[in-house]
Order: sequence, then structure tokens, then C-alpha cells
Amino acid sequence: MVVAAGARAFTKAVIVGGGPAGDAVAAGLRDAGFRGEILLVGAEPEFPYERPHLSKGFLLGTVPLARLGLRPRDQYHELGIQLLLGVRVSELDLEHRSVILESGHRIGWDLLCIATGSSARRLAGFEESIYLRELPDAVSLRAILERGEPLTVVGAGFIGCEVAAAARRQGCSVTVFEALAQPLQRVLGEELGGYLAGVHRWRGVNLRLGTEPAPDLEPPVVVGVGSSPRTELAAAAGIAVDAGIVVDEVGHTSVPDIFAAGDATRFWSPLFEERIRVEHFQTAQRQGFAVGRAMAGTPAPFVEAPWFWSDQYDVNLQYAGAGLAWDQTVTRGTFGQPPFSVFYLRQDSMIAVAGINDRHTVARARHAMERRAKLTPQELADPAFDLRKAGR
Ligand SMILES: Cc1cc2nc3c(=O)[nH]c(=O)nc-3n(C[C@H](O)[C@H](O)[C@H](O)COP(=O)(O)OP(=O)(O)OC[C@H]3O[C@@H](n4cnc5c(N)ncnc54)[C@H](O)[C@@H]3O)c2cc1C
Repeated sequence: MVVAAGARAFTKAVIVGGGPAGDAVAAGLRDAGFRGEILLVGAEPEFPYERPHLSKGFLLGTVPLARLGLRPRDQYHELGIQLLLGVRVSELDLEHRSVILESGHRIGWDLLCIATGSSARRLAGFEESIYLRELPDAVSLRAILERGEPLTVVGAGFIGCEVAAAARRQGCSVTVFEALAQPLQRVLGEELGGYLAGVHRWRGVNLRLGTEPAPDLEPPVVVGVGSSPRTELAAAAGIAVDAGIVVDEVGHTSVPDIFAAGDATRFWSPLFEERIRVEHFQTAQRQGFAVGRAMAGTPAPFVEAPWFWSDQYDVNLQYAGAGLAWDQTVTRGTFGQPPFSVFYLRQDSMIAVAGINDRHTVARARHAMERRAKLTPQELADPAFDLRKAGR
């Protein structure tokens, strides 16, 4: 049965990339009534899984392999989503509306979505190190932690900090090198980064801040110095790319009938009124779902504020916002004594919030941001002021 999407009838949707975004695009298509064929082509052999566990519960052994999957396997069958796993797409042939697999095999589409995600940025001189992106990387690292080997981590971003925390929990001695003055400085700023530096040092991490590592470090070394959008396929096909595949608020690329979702994209955010690139699990899923619905002919702009969490020891850090530059911060609670939160403001408007063991504040502030509620610094700082009422 063919369903008309918009003015035309589409019978086959192909999604390149089997991460959370690709998975959600497929679900979104079905949710919006698309009854044509859906094929998800993914380079990893595993069923779509929850990548965030790789630097947290899976490393610690508290989240087993069986719990990594994004949905029960039967559901793909029930939803009529065909999976072609362990297969890489090597080219997008726009003229003939097909994707070309590494084997040379062609698959036709009349709707295409690129959800190729991101890849770990490589550091020159550290080619042999561990880059934690896919399940086999986490399996190797977990074995190292289980053996209690001393570990060096290069980069105190989210992945570096989480790996350090997991390794300390497993009793490994850990040294972390970070080129900037504080961990997580780019997103959280020096002050909150400094607080997290204290957390790691308190747990016994040898934190070497403002220091580049020598390239001859004893292995094992884990490198976590950020990631880059996988845009090669799109760029080679002539689809607009600018630090991410350029898409609008519903996931259209520069080419008709071709959409993109997830980490690989830089999408127009009506909320922040600029194009943003986000590398968060929930955004990949929710933006992906919205893109799938748009592909099926029911477009609705994705207007949410990106949100993520990070677990390090007993610290649960949550952040809502798009990592944009700020000119003022305001603290709610007593800084350094959880629960507390820091709000990031630009020209007196809240553009982000980060909370330490303070998830309710982050959730309420996030929704206030999405409502575009006007909040004064005094209201933000006052724990008695109910953020849920702001802007209603
Ligand atoms: C270790 C780790 C921990 C993280 N922790 C958190 C966290 O705590 N909170 C949070 O919000 N986010 C976290 N993230 C980020 C989050 O996982 C990503 O934002 C999310 O996975 C992005 O989803 P995606 O589908 O866009 O891309 P990806 O998850 O990167 O998936 C893209 C998929 O496309 C496949 N692919 C690429 N090219 C091709 C091709 N040519 N042919 C076929 N398939 C292809 C890839 O193999 C991959 O399977 C973490 C990421 C990592 C690596």
C-alpha cells in the first residue's frame, strides 16, 4: 500500500545510519502513517543501541549488552522496518535516486535520510589509542578496566571525564591530560569546570590541566577530544554541508526529497534562531522522529532545547541548551554544594542551564526556555521562585 506524502506518492524510504537518529526517523515515518517500504542501512553490525551507556554503565558492567538496544528487536518487524546491518553506503547517487553500497550493490529510494552521526576526532601521534565511539571500543576498554590497568585519558570532555570516573570506580590509577584550564570548559565555563576538576581530584584522578600530553605515553591511552559530523557522503553528492549537513527545522537538506537527522546535521533551531549542531542522544532521537514525520508529509518544526546528562561518580550533571556563547552566569543554590544549578544568559535571556544533582531545576528551566519565558537574574537565582510558573 502506498501512502501519499505531500503531493507525491512515495513508496520507499531509505535511511543511511542505524544510530538513534536513523532509528527514530524510521519510527517517525511510521508514526505519521507512511506505509511504504522503510530500509535502514547501518555500518555497525549491532541492532541500533544506546551509545551513552558505552562510557557509563556498560564500562562499569552494570548495564549488560542485552540492555543496550534501543527497542525490542521484534518491534522492527512489527513496524515493518527492514534493517541492513554491517553494511556501509559508499555513495549517494542523486541522479538515479539510489544509494551504492560498498559491495557495489545499488538500492533505489524515493525518500532518503542521511543519519550518519559523528566520528571521534583523531589526535595526531595517538593513532593507536582507544577512541570510544562504537561497541567494540567499549568492549576493549572494559577489559582494561576489569584488569585494573593504569589508564591515561587525553581530553577532559564528557567522554574523557566519564571514562576517568568509570576507571577510578574499577580501581585503576588514572591520569587525565586536558589542554584547557578546566574540564568541560567550552560548554560549562571555567567555574563549573573547576568544580568538576575538584570532583575528579577528590576521587584520586591525576588531572593535568593546561597540559598537552607527550606522544610517547605508555598504553593504554583513551583519547576523547571531541567528534566531527560524518558529512562525507552528503558532501560528495553535492548536498550543502557547513560544519554539518545543513538542514532546516524539519530536516530538509538542500536537495528535494533528501533529509538528514542527528549528530551529522546542523539544523535551524527556531528557538535559538540560528543553526545549531548538537551531539546528544535525546536530540538525535527527537529530532530524528520529527524528521521522519516530515518525510511522511506531516512537517512540524523541531523546537526543543537540546538536553543531555552525564554521570561521573555520584555526580549527575544535566545540561539544557545549545552550547552557545554566554555573557553572564547566575547560580541557584550554593555553588559547589549540590544540588545547585548555573544558568547561562546572553543579553539577559537564559540560553542554557547546567545542574549538579539538580534535575528538577534543569527540567523546569528547560521548559521555561522553550516557552521563551523572560526571567530576571534575581528570579533565576531565587530557589523559592517557581520556574514552572514563568512565562505562562
Ligand atoms: C561514548 C559516548 C557516550 C555518550 N554519552 C552521551 C550522554 O551521556 N548523553 C548524551 O546526550 N549523548 C551522549 N553521547 C552522544 C550520543 O550518543 C550521540 O549524540 C548520538 O548517538 C547521535 O546519534 P546519531 O544517530 O545521530 O549518530 P550515531 O550514534 O553516530 O549513529 C550513526 C550511525 O550511522 C552509521 N554510519 C555512518 N556512516 C555510514 C555509512 N556510510 N553507511 C552506513 N552506516 C553509516 C554509523 O556506523 C552509526 O552506527 C555519547 C556518545 C558516545 C560516543
